[in-house]
Amino acid sequence: MATRARVEEVHIIWMTGGLSCDGDTISITAASQPSVEDVVMGAIPGLPQVYLHNPVLAYEVGEGFMSWWYKAERGEIDPFVLVIEGSIPNENIKAEGYWAAQGNDPVTNQPIPTTAWIDRLAPKAWAVVAAGTCATYGGIHAMQGNATGAMGLADYLGKNWRSWAGIPIVNVPGCPVQPDNFMETLLYLLYQAAGMAPMIPLDEALRPTWLFGKTVHEGCDRGSYYEESDFATEYGSPKCLVKLGCWGPVVQCNVPKRGWMAGLGGCPNVGGICIGCTMPGFPDKFMPFMDEPPGAKASTNLINLYGPVMRKLRSFTNTTLNKEPSWRHKGRELATSYHPTW
Ligand code: SF4
Ligand code: SF4
Repeated sequence: MATRARVEEVHIIWMTGGLSCDGDTISITAASQPSVEDVVMGAIPGLPQVYLHNPVLAYEVGEGFMSWWYKAERGEIDPFVLVIEGSIPNENIKAEGYWAAQGNDPVTNQPIPTTAWIDRLAPKAWAVVAAGTCATYGGIHAMQGNATGAMGLADYLGKNWRSWAGIPIVNVPGCPVQPDNFMETLLYLLYQAAGMAPMIPLDEALRPTWLFGKTVHEGCDRGSYYEESDFATEYGSPKCLVKLGCWGPVVQCNVPKRGWMAGLGGCPNVGGICIGCTMPGFPDKFMPFMDEPPGAKASTNLINLYGPVMRKLRSFTNTTLNKEPSWRHKGRELATSYHPTW
């Protein structure tokens, strides 16, 4: 890995010009650990000064805003982190125009395709981050039947792509991305840029391991209903939602454990089936969402062999535990089995 002296300033060039809804940008404004304001206002000691260039949040507009893209291309804001939001269209199948673009070429006055910006900026970026499932794996825009041939960033640049600093593409999936998941990943990279953290740990799908190492089910507080074969048959029930279409047992995501904002909200933990929105196979491999996942039938049938028995046995024990011991009374005899030693 190439190394440099500790950096004092980092620019973040955030492209929303993929096939996107800007939902990930909106989502991170709800983060609190850290918040966007914490990062750009320097609230965290030891971090480089951060300059964020995101079209939804920027004060500058038009050419003034785009000037940062040209500065990045000319190497004038080195180092910078390139964040991509939205899936990458296949411009090779669109000879007569473009699917997605940002800014106008000053020479031709034609829009500059998003893919051209990636080609120009990715080789110069200290790190490249894909924000949300569209940018990471293609997502909803890359569904079967789509017209654009959309794909994720690693499909476009190559799964083994490395920045000049030796950093792989960093994928933070989610549709949208969980606010603190993204900001925590960005914070880690800033610590790494400051020379205060080792290489960011990523799994085989390029996700931060500490965020995506466990399944939804492993962090869902309805798991005890599953274990006792006690399943919801209609929405609004507090029980396990697997029969209504929850894919939690086979999906890697920390949202039920973490909550959405400040520990509140989520998906199956608060009554919404997990549709696998963080996964590379999303959405096609999970549809139709509101049907019971095929694999769930086998596992719930197995659990049904012993779950109701356990529930019954636990209810017997629970009944006894709801009664106080017999020696707690105001009679004249001490019945606690106390034996005086003097
Ligand atoms: S609701 Fe979903 S994630 Fe939660 S316990 Fe049931 S199957 Fe698992
Ligand atoms: S719990 Fe499921 S639906 Fe909710 S954010 Fe995670 S992967 Fe997406």
